[in-house]
Amino acid sequence: MTVLFASDLDQTLIYSRNSMGMEVTEEELVEVERYEGKPLSFMTKKSQSALWNIGDSAFFLPVTTRTQAQYERVTGIFEGQHPQFAVISNGAVILENGHPIKEWSDQIRQTCINRKTIIEELLPEIERHFSEDWVLKVREADDWFVYLIIDRARFPEDKLDFYTTTFKKLGWGLSLQGRKLYFMPESITKAGAMEYIKKRIGANYVVAAGDSLLDLDLLESANYGMLAAHGEAAKNAVSISAHIHKTKNYGIKAGEEILARVAELSLQRQ
Ligand SMILES: [Mg+2]
Repeated sequence: MTVLFASDLDQTLIYSRNSMGMEVTEEELVEVERYEGKPLSFMTKKSQSALWNIGDSAFFLPVTTRTQAQYERVTGIFEGQHPQFAVISNGAVILENGHPIKEWSDQIRQTCINRKTIIEELLPEIERHFSEDWVLKVREADDWFVYLIIDRARFPEDKLDFYTTTFKKLGWGLSLQGRKLYFMPESITKAGAMEYIKKRIGANYVVAAGDSLLDLDLLESANYGMLAAHGEAAKNAVSISAHIHKTKNYGIKAGEEILARVAELSLQRQ
């Protein structure tokens, strides 16, 4: 039996200083991403070795909203060889041996055009609703989606439901993660790209892990889901299916818990 372990990266397997929590010592940590000469993301050593060893019993598929350049900075999630496939840009792009699968992205692009969920249509709407001074930057991710860098302290959290409803009508899903507010076309999903890989490798059991609202479709379409307790999705108390399990731990220790559980599940299914 082939087990596919499809996992989000940020705040699920890897953690910044701000998101890792307090229950970890410096000695436990290992740097997994460097940006502009500085360490940016970490795992615990225990997590890293668990992840490196998962390859013996499961097929590891990174599934991230990071763009290709952002994904390629994360060098600590594999030992030696890169993962054969990686889902990036939230599912709009699939890398095979480091190169985007063109047919996949072409098909996603066409769906976005048909549904008018392209950046050119979105930007005027963002301008209309988000001219406030807590919007620090508007960033476009490789032509696929948009995220705002916001001043979280000044962001009116009580208006989030209104924004979510407004943009849902236009075909965009919202996700608030730390200082970033994402606007994602509804046809760009992590689940869709995972299903494609599941077929390609002939997997028959999927374990998925994540923390944000953008991970929920991935977890829903898996056989076994793990939701990090500290994340946006768990906090929003959205209704989740019985096969999705919330971690007991928070922060970087939730990452450890997820990897230990995945190792157990894949061994059971060998
Ligand atoms: Mg995440």
